[in-house]
Amino acid sequence: MTYQVVKLFDPWKSPLCTCPIKWTLNPYTGCGHRCVYCYVTSYIPKHYIPRVKNNLINRVLKDIEKIPRGAIISLSNSSDPYTPPEAKLKITHRILEILLKEDFKIQLITKSDLVLRDIDILSKRRGNVVVAITITTLNEKLSSLIEPYAPAPQCRLRAIKLLSRAGIPVIVRIDPIIPYINSDPNDIERLVCEVAKAGALQITSSTYKARYDSLHRLKRTFPEYAEKFDYLYKEKGMKIHGYMYLNKNLRENMLRMVKEAAEKRGLIFETCREGLPHLNTPGFHCDGSSFFYI
Ligand code: SF4
Repeated sequence: MTYQVVKLFDPWKSPLCTCPIKWTLNPYTGCGHRCVYCYVTSYIPKHYIPRVKNNLINRVLKDIEKIPRGAIISLSNSSDPYTPPEAKLKITHRILEILLKEDFKIQLITKSDLVLRDIDILSKRRGNVVVAITITTLNEKLSSLIEPYAPAPQCRLRAIKLLSRAGIPVIVRIDPIIPYINSDPNDIERLVCEVAKAGALQITSSTYKARYDSLHRLKRTFPEYAEKFDYLYKEKGMKIHGYMYLNKNLRENMLRMVKEAAEKRGLIFETCREGLPHLNTPGFHCDGSSFFYI
């Protein structure tokens, strides 16, 4: 069967992905949050310029005719469904109305508190919705350097609080953790503490996996660490499925620190595409899909 815009999720056939079978839909091509570390820029031309797909709603309607009701659809894996133009265009909003009415299970992954605009439709189908909010740091200055057009961390904390209060399960992605940039143990402890207070149920975390273009941007943004990044990723690191990874010990140490901070506060902890399953809370998934069945 052919699908136009709602596709089976297959993260570049990564052997390290442990997500359950699900579908993925990007309401926008490209993303205006312009994160320095974004890896999508390596395969989507002009990725930092969000644009709407032609005839999107009709194509979604056609695709979902072929997908069983109750299936999980993730919005989005290659762009943020609440990228800045969404405030006016309301494309994600319209798609959510359609998918929730048709009984699909929805995963939203975003850095934007614009998700709060849709809290009414989401909370009406709360058993069918999980929201993942990404926060990499509570430091506003740092966030404005690495995620220049995304809402400030405090706005994202507020979104966690209000979604949780509305009974919608929220997981927080501390992703990516970049050595020297947002890997300080005290900062991570404080971040986990704040998201736990805000009501998050799970932390999913992942270390920065470099592609050549994102590494170049990172070195340009933090020239003082350029040599260290090259050393850690190019000399000491490992290549997995087209990405430059930190070496396994370093990744394990960094993620263990997040795990301990999360578990201390009773949160579930999962890693994403790390190949470190022993760090994960048994019985859960990094994408939060387990909450559909609890
Ligand atoms: S929000 Fe996600 S898709 Fe958008 S630029 Fe940042 S990392 Fe890339």
